[in-house]
Amino acid sequence: MKQLLAFIIAAGCVLAGAAESKRPNIVFIFSDDHAYQAISAYNDPRQLIQTPNLDRIAREGMRFDRCLVPNSICGPSRATVMTGKYSHANRFYNNGNSRFDGSQTTMPKLLQSAGYQTAIVGKWHLVSDPTGFDYWEILPGQGVYYNPPMIRNGERVKHDGYVTENITDLSIEWLKKRDKSKPFLLMCHNKAPHREWEPNLKDLGHDGDRKYAEPETLFDDYAGRGKAEHEQDMTIEKTMTERDLKLVTPGQLTPEQLKVWNQYYESRNEAFRKANPQCRDLVRWKYNRYMHDYLGCIKSVDENAGRLLKFLDDAGLAENTIVVYSSDQGFYLGEHGWFDKRWIFEESLRSPLLVRWPGVTTPGSVNKDLVSNLDFAETFLEAAGAPIPAEMQGRSFVPLLKGQTPGDWRKSFYYHYYEHPAVHSVARHYGVVTNRYKLVRFYEPAFNYWELFDLQKDPRELRSVYGQPDYADVQKQLETELTRLRSELKVPDPDPEETIIKRGAGKGGKARGKKKGG
Ligand code: CA
Repeated sequence: MKQLLAFIIAAGCVLAGAAESKRPNIVFIFSDDHAYQAISAYNDPRQLIQTPNLDRIAREGMRFDRCLVPNSICGPSRATVMTGKYSHANRFYNNGNSRFDGSQTTMPKLLQSAGYQTAIVGKWHLVSDPTGFDYWEILPGQGVYYNPPMIRNGERVKHDGYVTENITDLSIEWLKKRDKSKPFLLMCHNKAPHREWEPNLKDLGHDGDRKYAEPETLFDDYAGRGKAEHEQDMTIEKTMTERDLKLVTPGQLTPEQLKVWNQYYESRNEAFRKANPQCRDLVRWKYNRYMHDYLGCIKSVDENAGRLLKFLDDAGLAENTIVVYSSDQGFYLGEHGWFDKRWIFEESLRSPLLVRWPGVTTPGSVNKDLVSNLDFAETFLEAAGAPIPAEMQGRSFVPLLKGQTPGDWRKSFYYHYYEHPAVHSVARHYGVVTNRYKLVRFYEPAFNYWELFDLQKDPRELRSVYGQPDYADVQKQLETELTRLRSELKVPDPDPEETIIKRGAGKGGKARGKKKGG
């Protein structure tokens, strides 16, 4: 009897061990402001850059073509990833005055209690200290590109070198040192390619002074759209600073690094000043400088993603690890004359999402369903076999990764942006997005108007058809759907943040306007 009992216990341990080894690890590589147009797997017609390592994730996994964010701005997007909730539910509305409540339930905490080891390295941007991580090493605030100071489990440390390499080095070091008996979640959060788009010094001149193809809408005049689009402050033409354009040097470089920097930029800046381009030629020069710098940052993001993938291969971890690549939102690479994000419009609303899950996801597959970073927490929890709290507002897309979209998968998506007045002056708005349409409301009293876009007929979103008789039925349906979503998601009305902004106007409003939010 005793022997039998011992056998049963031993068999139980073996079974538990087998189940344990099957629970997948999760490597989540998350960049800041990475436009899908700048990943070659997304086949942008401009062919801005080759990203062989990110493409590898798509080739060996699934590319999502409509991954939408609920609030296209850095901190709120990160809070959504942590909580699986909209900004109004996790109470992180904007970069200006929100502070993440780390006592709330988060995906890393739930994975931790399910027996996962958890780590976050790099960009955090949620103001309060991270919770739910066995190891965290984050950039203070936005962080810097060169020789970045970081905070390791509460202690300030300093690194030499380039931030994307530092973050990847630290991620790999943690993977090497981790407790190998447990599955893990690693959140590798790049600062790049956030403004001011400063490339690794070795990548200056990576494009051989190439002339970049321009987006069709580089000289958009915003006709066909309302006051908010006319009054934004995010154009390449008017908003870009000397620092953005590398006409001045960043402060954190060592004398040796500065020499390399100057070697690339000085002669080109001199030629620019001498040529003194005007009007559209000046915008074109700025656009090309912007592309060199932004894509230079992407080059390093791609190479370092490749280093992480290679580590997983070499360590024998690749087969049992889900690799996810995404960004906290989309970004404008000159479309509508813009850089930055914030809008419900495509380039800002859509983030890249590539997922490799060996044995589960068919290599090279493409998904066009409406998914969101709101679903990441739920997806990771289901993959780990951990329960998903009912209060989370997204939905696990594990079935989609298996190639089986449920019949009742979402056909519409709610969006809400709050950060106004603030840097880039994008008015508050909310709206509903479907595969074909967008209904948008700019609701602040000074704006107070609606727009409706038909993406099939107007993929660049240049002409609102709101109020047009041809669209009366569509408009009515979307209005009903918007009301339904706002009620289902319990969106407070009026927007509670509005009172805070009003109180801060004149003082907070202006000061916040100087911050470069991301
Ligand atoms: Ca961002």
